[in-house]
Amino acid sequence: MKDMGKRGLMTRIIHAGQHTDPGTGAVSTPIYQSSTFAFRDADHGAACFRGEPGYKYTRLGNPTTAALEDNIANLEGGCGALAAASGMAAVNMVYLTFLGQGTHIVATDAVYGPSRMILENEYPRFGVASTFVDSSDPQNVAKAMRPDTKLVYLETPANPTLKLTDLEACAAIAHKGGALVVVDNTFASPYLQNPLQQGADIVLHSMTKFINGHTDVVAGIVIAKEPAVLERLRKVHYNFGGTMDPHQAWLVLRGVKTLGLRMERAQANAMKLAAFLEKHPKVAWVRYPGLESHPQYELGKRQMRGGGAVLSFGVKGGLEAGKVVINNVEVPALAVSLGGIESLIEHPASMTHAGVPLAERQAAGISDDLVRVAVGCETYEDIEADLKRVLEMV
Ligand SMILES: *Cc1c(COP(=O)(O)O)cnc(C)c1O
Repeated sequence: MKDMGKRGLMTRIIHAGQHTDPGTGAVSTPIYQSSTFAFRDADHGAACFRGEPGYKYTRLGNPTTAALEDNIANLEGGCGALAAASGMAAVNMVYLTFLGQGTHIVATDAVYGPSRMILENEYPRFGVASTFVDSSDPQNVAKAMRPDTKLVYLETPANPTLKLTDLEACAAIAHKGGALVVVDNTFASPYLQNPLQQGADIVLHSMTKFINGHTDVVAGIVIAKEPAVLERLRKVHYNFGGTMDPHQAWLVLRGVKTLGLRMERAQANAMKLAAFLEKHPKVAWVRYPGLESHPQYELGKRQMRGGGAVLSFGVKGGLEAGKVVINNVEVPALAVSLGGIESLIEHPASMTHAGVPLAERQAAGISDDLVRVAVGCETYEDIEADLKRVLEMV
């Protein structure tokens, strides 16, 4: 494989981890749709099981999946990556590897709903305690640290509040307490933010979102900075079995090639839409990291290479007015998820975060009037005209 480590980001997105097929010359990575791999002889089989290079069985590694893992590990600046069947399989791979009886995790309060719900509802059965804090103030993380804290789990920008967390400050606090730092980097994508360069030990993604980018695959990945952490994760992942299918890996590889192009376009659309909404008389507030009105605009400039493609806003008139908007838009689909080529709109209080109790939802800044738009790559004027029309109906 050619070393792509030092090339530009667009070049690495397209080429890292990819190599021309030695047998046929195929430029696109083939789909090795095989559950098992034949050994040349007994010695070869024994060598593969000792850990020498070579494929054995697809749950324990596959060439198509490896091409995707090498690509994303390069984009995040990690030593390696492990692809997972879904974003939640990636989240659980990390929890299962580093949490257990008598351990504690500190996490951002507004993390992705199921990432929080599973810690509150399932992990206590295994003796795991959790504390959720507004990590946009690193002091809250410092106050929540305990002697048994093993993980500090951060999501920035957070969903759907778009609050930012200072990764360097929180990593320093976590490391002082002997905990590993995990960042869910789904919202920024590796195109805009690389937490491993800002002190994190582990990064994870729901590749369902920006990395695949075409709203047709559910997938996840975990990237580690150090080999010891990667190998510990690998052991748990391969035996718990939430691994990726080669066909799924190929689809994500196809999607990631346009990550840079899509992010540039979607982000430019999001910036224009945020500025439009901010001036609109029917809009109570807009939250977007690329707007100077974002309370952490300076942190965003330091930590990210752009504001991203997700924004949230409140419609004057609260829940009912928000419903008029989401029920009448024609360009964005009314759907959860984000990071696809098409715009999506959703209402977290009744949809993605409905499982979080009202008091906790409000404490995490998810107000009932909050409407989230995942801005896509359509013609900008069409998105603006559509929202202008529905806001006049409110
Ligand atoms: C979607 C999402 C997940 C979960 O990913 P799935 O692929 O749906 O399992 C985790 N974190 C964030 C921030 C997400 O947006």
